[in-house]
Amino acid sequence: MSQGPVPVPTPETLQFWEGTAVGELRIQRCNSCEKFYFYPRPYCPKCNSDNVEWRVVSGKGSLASYNINYRPFPMFGTEEPQVIALVELDEGVRLMTNVVGIEPVPENLPLGLRVQVAFEPRGDQFLPVFTPDTAATIAAAASALETRA
Ligand SMILES: [Zn+2]
Repeated sequence: MSQGPVPVPTPETLQFWEGTAVGELRIQRCNSCEKFYFYPRPYCPKCNSDNVEWRVVSGKGSLASYNINYRPFPMFGTEEPQVIALVELDEGVRLMTNVVGIEPVPENLPLGLRVQVAFEPRGDQFLPVFTPDTAATIAAAASALETRA
């Protein structure tokens, strides 16, 4: 279990946190303009429609930006560097999150790196974090080799 602040679900975010607890990444989608959006809210930020619904998404995306935090706040109970990342889901929305499961050095974090969601217990909640999508990385490397040959 990771340490740090425990999320407190609100009426707007309850579906999101109920999803992470059962291993689902749920994102809202507008039925009027057919776009996903994040963070959760009861109307579409693009067209103001309230005809919106929750969808379970793939949990796959790519690394859009990151920062390596070498001095985490004491509340996180670790002195290990943390990767604070902006991940763009394949559905087109961006989440502020952490990339875990790798040594936190820039060589492991090329922009565009394919990542997939994982759920980390935190208090009585589960946080969506991301790990490198190993299958996608292997496929990309194989494709690069074929291109070179
Ligand atoms: Zn809309």
